[in-house]
Amino acid sequence: MKRQKIAAGNWKMHKTFEEGQGLAQEIRTMAATEVMPEAKLLIFPPYIHLQAIAKQLAGSGIGVGAQNINQNEQGAFTGEVSASMLKSIDIHYTLVGHSERRQYYNETNASCAAKIVTSIKHNIVPVYCIGETLAEREANAHFSIVEEQLSAMKGLSNEDAAKCILAYEPVWAIGTGVTASADQANEMHIHIRKCVANMFNDEIASGISILYGGSVKPDNAKSLFAMSDIDGALIGGAALASRDFIDIAKSF
Ligand code: PEP
Repeated sequence: MKRQKIAAGNWKMHKTFEEGQGLAQEIRTMAATEVMPEAKLLIFPPYIHLQAIAKQLAGSGIGVGAQNINQNEQGAFTGEVSASMLKSIDIHYTLVGHSERRQYYNETNASCAAKIVTSIKHNIVPVYCIGETLAEREANAHFSIVEEQLSAMKGLSNEDAAKCILAYEPVWAIGTGVTASADQANEMHIHIRKCVANMFNDEIASGISILYGGSVKPDNAKSLFAMSDIDGALIGGAALASRDFIDIAKSF
C-alpha cells in the first residue's frame, strides 16, 4: 500500500502573529513550485495563529493543525481549547502527546488516548507522538516503552485507527542536534508497524504513515526518507525557516 508522505512543522512557542503570517506565506509560495504534489505539508503553529493561517493557506493543500487539544467537549478547563472550537475555524489536524507536553504538562498515555478519541470524533486527524527517553534507550526499554505508548490507540475501531498519523520522536533527539541514525529510526518504525498490526491488522499497519522526528534537517532528511518505513518527518527547529522546511519536504 502506498503511504502518504508528510513533512510536518511544529512551530512550538515561536513566532509573533506577523512573523507567523510571513512564514506561512513563504511556505505557501515555495511549496507551490518546489514540492512534489504527493508530499503533504502540515504546519502546527501556536493557537493564536490558527484561524489566520488556516484562511491564509486555504486552497493551497497545506494542512494546519493545533499543537494540543483538550479531550473534553467543553466546560471549566481554563486555558484549554476544544475539538469543536478547532473545527469551527477549519482546523483538521492536531498533535497529541508531544514529548514536551508529556514532560511539562503531565500528559499520560491515558490522557492521550482520550485526546485521540475526541479528535477523531470531530474529524480532526491526530498526529500521535511517541518515543523513548535516553535513559529508557540505555536501559534497552525503548521497544517496550513505545509499545506501551501505542496502547493509547487500543480502544479505537479499525476504521478510526486508520485515520491516525504516528510520529516516532526519540526524546534524546528532539532539539538536541542529535538525530537517530536512519537505521535506528527505521528499526523502531518497523517495530511500531508490528505493534499496530498486532492491535489492529496488517492492512492498517501497512497503510498508516509514521513520521520520524528529532533534529531533522535538510542535510539528513534524504537518508531518513530513503528508509523502508519512514514516511516523513515531524520537524521542530528547521520548520521555523521556510527554506529549510521546504528543502526537507523536497527530500522525498
Ligand atoms: C519536535 O519538536 O517535534 C522536534 C522534532 O523538534 P526538532 O526538530 O527541533 O528536534
